[in-house]
Amino acid sequence: MTDLSRPDTIPRTAALSEAKPEAIAPPLWLLAELTYRCPLHCVFCYNPTNYTDHSRELSTAQWIDVLREARALGAAQLGFSGGEPLLRDDLEVLVGEARQLGFYTNLITSGIGLTDARLDALKAAGLDHIQLSFQDSTQELNDFLSSTRTFDLKKRVAASIKAHDFPMVLNCVLHRFNLPHVDKIIDMALAMGAEYLELANTQYYGWAHTNRAQLMPTAEQLQEAEAVVNRYRKETGERCKIFFVVPDYFETRPKRCMNGWGAVFLGIAPDGAALPCHTARSLPGLMFPNVTETPLREIWYESDAFNRFRGFGWMKEPCRSCDEKERDLGGCRCQAYLLTGDPANADPVCDKSPEHERVVQVVRAAANRAPEQPLVKEQPVLFRNDANSRRLASAPDGHPPDHPVSRGDRT
Ligand code: SF4
Ligand code: SF4
Repeated sequence: MTDLSRPDTIPRTAALSEAKPEAIAPPLWLLAELTYRCPLHCVFCYNPTNYTDHSRELSTAQWIDVLREARALGAAQLGFSGGEPLLRDDLEVLVGEARQLGFYTNLITSGIGLTDARLDALKAAGLDHIQLSFQDSTQELNDFLSSTRTFDLKKRVAASIKAHDFPMVLNCVLHRFNLPHVDKIIDMALAMGAEYLELANTQYYGWAHTNRAQLMPTAEQLQEAEAVVNRYRKETGERCKIFFVVPDYFETRPKRCMNGWGAVFLGIAPDGAALPCHTARSLPGLMFPNVTETPLREIWYESDAFNRFRGFGWMKEPCRSCDEKERDLGGCRCQAYLLTGDPANADPVCDKSPEHERVVQVVRAAANRAPEQPLVKEQPVLFRNDANSRRLASAPDGHPPDHPVSRGDRT
């Protein structure tokens, strides 16, 4: 297995030399992760588990430079995310700048801090869209999963968003605990007037990977939830578009992750690190350039980090000679690393991967537990907070002794 503890050991393949600037399309999406700070403590948070190692934040002026450079590159869709972006009191200034530059802007928020005054200011600044997250349709589970008492506040915020006439996406991350509530979650979204409902089955990165044994559903739970979603889709039609994607652990081909590494997505972390996907920081051996030191154009077209997995030259077997490689691009590099220890391997979700059994074992372990038998008592979930982040950052292999690596992980 490749030694990933050394930065120079991910093979520098032909991808770098093949990836000439004129062959690379400009970015379409810019995700501005304004801060890793967040008042919530979600057990499935996609932020890096060691986010406390990256607490520096770009200034307002530095973010404005990022927006200008990204727009000049061609980016058109902009998400303000975090952490909780409302913790930045310059959010309205950044939205105003983005609007002037011609971005379509989306605020991705937990809703905490979204007062009427801020909604007025964001409206005046030209914000186009708001994505509001809920953890569940019940107060009990919503508040448990975020380790806060925020359910009632979120409901009030949803009403205020609609009163301010913003288009609203309601987002709910799905897993073992709330999949049986899918009908109630849809009812809640309809009652709130959401135009879109994103039922986002958990992707097992960051904190969700740490809590995977507790969160992983059964295949039956997913099938039942999907049947409910399809029934509602017929009933609601265009009134509310419902998105539901089966988690890839239950598939035999991987997702076309980010539509390709360095293809359309450009993420900027709170400290200015430029990322080809928001979990790329979990990959060892890649130096992510910082917008405070390198122009964005150079980062996108010329940096090793953005070129490393472009094209096909980096692929190993079985992807290298696979006739499906143009469809899925070998899947997700972060998932390949998390499950096999080598980001250049085939995503082990693929049943052509020699490591596919690792995924099968995780699904089998979930099936062997009755859905009504949560693991929380046997092995508590780790909430996303600063103390746990420091423990995970300092623990060998990122897993503290009382929260060991679950079966199916890399060895
Ligand atoms: S997933 Fe939860 S904890 Fe993580 S940034 Fe979003 S609201 Fe905050
Ligand atoms: S072997 Fe690689 S390219 Fe082929 S289907 Fe599997 S992941 Fe995709």
